[in-house]
This record gives sequence, structure tokens and C-alpha cells, in this order.
Amino acid sequence: MLRQFEGIILKTRDYGETHKIVTIFTKELGKLSAIARGANKPKSKLSAISQMFIQGDFLVYVTKGLSTVQQGEIIASYRYIREDILKTAYASFIIELTDKLVDERKPDPFIYNQLCQTLTWINEKDEFMIPLLMYEMKLFSKGGFAPIVDRCVNCGRTNTLTSFSIQEGGVLCEQCYPIDARAVQLSPSLLKLFKIFLHVGLERIGNISVKKQNKQLLRTLFNEYYDEYGGFYLKSRKFLSQIDLLQ
Ligand SMILES: [Zn+2]
Repeated sequence: MLRQFEGIILKTRDYGETHKIVTIFTKELGKLSAIARGANKPKSKLSAISQMFIQGDFLVYVTKGLSTVQQGEIIASYRYIREDILKTAYASFIIELTDKLVDERKPDPFIYNQLCQTLTWINEKDEFMIPLLMYEMKLFSKGGFAPIVDRCVNCGRTNTLTSFSIQEGGVLCEQCYPIDARAVQLSPSLLKLFKIFLHVGLERIGNISVKKQNKQLLRTLFNEYYDEYGGFYLKSRKFLSQIDLLQ
């Protein structure tokens, strides 16, 4: 059946000498793999639309097996992401995480919308760590492994929350934090951010101002948390850590 989708390219690989197989996260049908015939030929009309990060309108012949991309038109190419190695690295990371956590042929317009907004933010602004963390938290939730952030993960208390525990999978109150010797003490405003990350869409955020050292702390906590509960190896993380060393 011939169908039209809006989507973002999550993955591409060569197929034979001239074809490509692309994985598209479509708004209407979730994740879908399709062959783009001739996309590796320089003059192919499918070549521009079959690149990583491209957001486009795709005309796809959908079959039970491998579908076929017939046509495509670019909605957003995220040019500034392509031109900046740090932006490329972080965009690759969230794209890879999305690929691992969204389902084949099962739509999730909310996640799709958050991904578009996150890519737009990375493309247009220099500071993008907070939107990135917000999006990651939504994906953790989608994957069923989001941390408990509204109450103490041990006793359920909602006040006097003081720290974040990777081992326990969420926040701990002032009485329970000794159960994890590695729990990280966080200020009330940082603990509140976890709630915002989980429950608030990026469209509702103007600017959250967070100190650089706190952004780094959150980045480290999110990586460690993902390693503990996420389960899928991410190639892009290796690239990111190499870039971080260069900075
Ligand atoms: Zn407690």
C-alpha cells in the first residue's frame, strides 16, 4: 500500500552498491525500515532525503517485509547540526537512543514531536544540554525505566527529598539516603528539575538556567543511570566521550 508519512531518518546503511536501507521514525506509523533504491547514486532524487537526521515527507510503498521509499521531500535538514561536530555527536546520540526505544510500526506522536523539538533546539542554539536531558527522560519513561522522582523511592515521602540514587532508581529523602552510600546529594532545585524533565514537554520550556557544573553532574548521572537500566549498548556514546576529551 502506498502511504505518505512525515518522519525522521534514524539510521541508514548501504545496500549493494547503489541502494540504501533507511530506518524512518514516522509520526503516523512509528519506526519503519525501507529500501531507497539508487539513493547512493549522486543524481538520485532519493539521495538528499536518505541522510541521517533528515526530517521529511516520505511516500513509501509499505509491505509486510521491506518497504520501499518512492519519493521524499525535506521538511528540515538540520544543517547546523551537520556542520558542528559537537551538535552532530549529541544528535547522533539521541537519534540512536530513539532507535533503540521506539517500536516498529507503532506510532508515538508525543515522542516524535519531542524529538523534532529537541533537534530544532540543538540545531538553532548553542546551549542544548537541558532539552537533551528532558528528551532522554521521556525516552527512559517510554522504555519503562524512568527513575522515581516525585517521591522517595524507599519510603514514599514526598517532602525532604535530598538525593538521587542510581542503585535505588530514584530520589531518596533525608531519612533514607544512607541506604545507598553512593547516593548523590542534590539541591532542591536540581531535584525539581528531574520532575520537570519527566512531566513537562519541551514546548513549555522557555529557558532553564542551570550552572555548568550542575549540567555536567546531571549528564554524568543520566549516563550512569542509563548504563544501569537502559540495557542497550550505544555506539554514539563512545564518540561523545572522545569529543568530551578534546574539549
Ligand atoms: Zn525515604
